[in-house]
Amino acid sequence: MSVILPGATIGVLGGGQLGRMTGMAARSLGYDVQVLDPDPDCPARAIASRTITARFDDADAAAELARDCDVVTLEIEQIARPALEAVTTLTPLRPRAEAVFTVQDRIRQRSWLDKHGFPVGPYRAVGTADECAAAVTALGPSICKAPMGGYDGRGQRRVRTAEEGTEAWKALGSGRVIVEQFLDLDIELSVLVARREDGVCAVYPPSVNHHVHGVLDWAITPGALQAPLLQHAQQVARAIAESMGIVGLLAVELFLTKDGRLLVNELAPRPHNTYHHSERGHSTSQFEQLVRAVCGLPLGSVDAVAPAAIANLLGDLWVEGDQPHFVEALAVPDVRLHLYGKASARPGRKMGHLSAIAATAEEALARVLEARRRMATRSAIEV
Ligand code: ADP
Ligand code: MG
Repeated sequence: MSVILPGATIGVLGGGQLGRMTGMAARSLGYDVQVLDPDPDCPARAIASRTITARFDDADAAAELARDCDVVTLEIEQIARPALEAVTTLTPLRPRAEAVFTVQDRIRQRSWLDKHGFPVGPYRAVGTADECAAAVTALGPSICKAPMGGYDGRGQRRVRTAEEGTEAWKALGSGRVIVEQFLDLDIELSVLVARREDGVCAVYPPSVNHHVHGVLDWAITPGALQAPLLQHAQQVARAIAESMGIVGLLAVELFLTKDGRLLVNELAPRPHNTYHHSERGHSTSQFEQLVRAVCGLPLGSVDAVAPAAIANLLGDLWVEGDQPHFVEALAVPDVRLHLYGKASARPGRKMGHLSAIAATAEEALARVLEARRRMATRSAIEV
């Protein structure tokens, strides 16, 4: 296996916060970083030596990036196949195009998991209003999800009746839709796996995650999980990364249902919001680990060094141009502020996060939540 040494150039498809934080880790390790993103003011611009402004379906632009880079990775899976293939013909793409293609469409991803025997909740893939209505009748209360382009709960509709199924199908663009039975969740968790080209793997301890309106609100590590469940989750995640031949990172989102089933919700072949605490809680952050994995360097230890938590900062905290109260928030012991350098705040937009370590994950969580509470400006809704 060839090693891509510090001094080389890493290309990143996508220049959002995940690309920015990956780029920072790459720079710490002595790599140069170039990015491609449709937004000329993308967060990663600040850390890249070159930013190519192009759409994710622009194969020529992807080739331009690849020509200058010793390896290309990605921070978003919504990259059109011709662009992925254009990279592959010029330089190693890690993870490889086939894996990204499998993951980037919810229906394709779910069928792959099902076919490979991984545990998933009841679902149906539909293509018409009638099929969508029939699926809701068969599955009961469900969530209809557009197969592509959705994130942070967007592109989803909760439905209870066949009529609502018909409406959801129309609202989601009258095309292919995945109808998933609405599950009674006990815990949401995720497991991050790093894997090198030669198959060497590192599996992080699970993160326990809390979502509000479909958006991650906070995540902690370690979560209060029973040892057999924890190991089972890690085994499932590792097996998925191996079957898919992931090179880089794979985040596996899982549900533990109230009736005790551990089910795979969805996959992401890249760094993941639920592992931002790895910068504080584990020996190796997810961003450094991605760099190590795609460059063929030894993977870093995933040992826990301290219980840790993160809380997301959404644009709602920026009220009418007012900055949140950063000073008050940073006075909370062991809290760090991570901002993504986004010029404009919009409700629901991820602007940054807070991280903390403490003697227990619960205390770390209490710290980030207290810091976030202090950040809210007078007129902001208390979070
Ligand atoms: P996204 O790409 O937006 O993260 P997800 O499919 O992970 O999409 O859905 C976002 C959140 O919505 C999940 O983390 C979970 O809280 C909730 N959710 C999604 N699917 C289901 C389901 N089948 N049953 C219950 N809750 C769900
Ligand atoms: Mg999700």
